[in-house]
Amino acid sequence: MRMTVLASGSKGNSTVIASGRTRVLVDAGLSCRELLRRMAIVHEDPAKLDAILITHEHSDHVAGLSVLARRLGIPVYFTEQTHRAWVRMLTPRTTMTYAKWLDRLQSDKAQQEKAAKAAAAIPTYLAPEEAEAIASISAEAAAFDPSLNRSDDPNASMELPLELEPCDPVEASKEKDPATLPSVEYFKAGTNFVIGDLEVAPFTIPHDAADPCGFVFESREEGVRMAVATDLGYMPPNVKAALKRIDVLLLESNHDLEMLRDGPYPWSVKQRVLSRVGHLSNVSAAEFLQKDYDGGAAYIVLGHLSESNNQPELARITAEQAIGDRMTLLGNRILLAEQAFPLDPIHVG
Ligand SMILES: [Zn+2]
Ligand SMILES: [Zn+2]
Repeated sequence: MRMTVLASGSKGNSTVIASGRTRVLVDAGLSCRELLRRMAIVHEDPAKLDAILITHEHSDHVAGLSVLARRLGIPVYFTEQTHRAWVRMLTPRTTMTYAKWLDRLQSDKAQQEKAAKAAAAIPTYLAPEEAEAIASISAEAAAFDPSLNRSDDPNASMELPLELEPCDPVEASKEKDPATLPSVEYFKAGTNFVIGDLEVAPFTIPHDAADPCGFVFESREEGVRMAVATDLGYMPPNVKAALKRIDVLLLESNHDLEMLRDGPYPWSVKQRVLSRVGHLSNVSAAEFLQKDYDGGAAYIVLGHLSESNNQPELARITAEQAIGDRMTLLGNRILLAEQAFPLDPIHVG
């Protein structure tokens, strides 16, 4: 079995899971073009993908979904609630009532005025790197805060900005409705299903989305199990129970508590990240590894690291200390997933 993390973090998530006869993509949170580019780098043939599975509808997990699924002509697996939330997110707001439209027009105007004032307040001596850093922090914060993530915010990265640069312009122009997919399959958290020779066990995770899930993938033939567990505010008993006998574990290690507390996010976003439906901190991941994890994995991949509120080495050290002397040449090796480039494929079995 093989796991290839193409991207991990608040600017986009996507991971290939492959067994002997089956290949799936978990989330499609980068543009179609970028996903294909990264697959080419690590020699993952997109034409051999059998399906795309979606953990939840946040933009960092679905940004390239419709364009990629249409391009590859493969089914997309969602829970029904996640699918509905995703469709709602993409549906143009042309169906609103006149009163709502008027309301919206006024709030847009107020927002524009506010933005203009804020822009005027930005000191002109801002170095380009500083401006870029601020923009990047805003984008990351927006990915954490659905209220900042609205299409009417010119800075938001939501609502398929990548439709502007489609993988296949002909196909894109033919297809006006961004929520159209080749086919949709529903699954339920807690109910296993099968794709080819891959058994999939979806489990509910605590996160502020419609019906967010993690996955355990198992190849019975190879006797290997791999899991994806990111975007969770804490480790509830059902997640701890799901993450048993895992050979490769992609585990969230989102933020350092002090860096988040003292960092640049607005207070409301800090609250949201820290909440029970936010993201897993380095210490929470470590606590799981120390107390609840059975120690049997060949690899633990730390993922969804915050660029503003974490340091890769801090995440690594915290996890390493928790693993302690269980870390060996063959077991419990710790890797760090990256936002900017794919990791080399991880083979087990
Ligand atoms: Zn995410
Ligand atoms: Zn999320």
